[in-house]
Amino acid sequence: MSSSKRFQSLSSAITKLHVDYLLITHLPNIRYLCGFTGSAGALLVGGEPVFFTDGRYTEQAHKEVFGARVLIGKKPPLPAAVEWLKRKRAGKLGIEGDHMTVAAEARLRALLPRSWRPRPTSGVVERQRMIKDAGEAELLRRAVNLGSSLFKPILKALRPGVPETAVAAKLEFAARQAGAEGMSFDTIIAAGPRSALPHGRASATPIPRQGFVVLDFGVILAGYCSDMTRTVALGRPSAKERGWYDAVLDAQLAGIAAVRPGVTAGEVDEAARKVLKRNKLAKYYTHSTGHGVGLEIHESPRLAAGETTVLEPGMVLTIEPGVYVPGQGGVRIEDMILVTKTGCDVLTPTTKELITVSHTA
Ligand code: ZN
Ligand code: ZN
Repeated sequence: MSSSKRFQSLSSAITKLHVDYLLITHLPNIRYLCGFTGSAGALLVGGEPVFFTDGRYTEQAHKEVFGARVLIGKKPPLPAAVEWLKRKRAGKLGIEGDHMTVAAEARLRALLPRSWRPRPTSGVVERQRMIKDAGEAELLRRAVNLGSSLFKPILKALRPGVPETAVAAKLEFAARQAGAEGMSFDTIIAAGPRSALPHGRASATPIPRQGFVVLDFGVILAGYCSDMTRTVALGRPSAKERGWYDAVLDAQLAGIAAVRPGVTAGEVDEAARKVLKRNKLAKYYTHSTGHGVGLEIHESPRLAAGETTVLEPGMVLTIEPGVYVPGQGGVRIEDMILVTKTGCDVLTPTTKELITVSHTA
């Protein structure tokens, strides 16, 4: 989709908000709308879109920005945008309430003439970003494929005594060598009893001889994030552990099967949760079933109990139920999926059969 189409959809949203301009300061929203990837900028949308940045980004802004006029200010982007607004008649200025700090808002109010009223808005660009166009879906597919390609090779690093951080380091090194711009989030390598921590970031704890290892990681490629989780067993899993794994896999498959246009995000969560309830494991399922992914690792919608967002083709979501038994261990399985007209495509190609890592050496 071209930038002008994105601006067109946004301007109809702005009209409904009853503001004259929307000042966009959240960098992923700026990137989505006009392509700028730098770290300082503001985008004013209402009339002709105007992008403000400072002298450090002169060359980059002229190269990257499309669909908006580029103004390189002597002042930082926010005061530069105010200067520009002052030349307009008074009006209502929407700001991104989810992102602008209290301090920045106070600064803005102090700089603006009284005739301008900043009004917080919420999730305006984010709602648009929920539906990925074909170009974005392709970029996400590439990120997912790169991320998935790292999984099998990293299993060799899972040897008793090796710290979780060393496993994470190998994974991240391989990601960068394969062309990743960075990781989508702090890599989770959680082994043995630590696998019961849903967000067990890799620690100095050594890999044990027995138990589960949860590997949850993602890469950023062309700005788009991937996110996947697999859980592997060290040595032979016990019957109880096998039971947890099978239940989580069934729940994950039920979540995927529930995805199609017209169902709500909450219904997908319910479909996965029901399977764990049936297996008497629901009390160990302590988080929601998934989230949108795109330029950011956590985007709308959230697949959580009671969420009423209706799924639409083009949404890219994770499905990631888990079971976490304190002091013992945990299992999570996570794929990324693309909602299609009739259901969904699972983007993550990695097997979900339980892999056993043996360490005879
Ligand atoms: Zn994840
Ligand atoms: Zn996730």
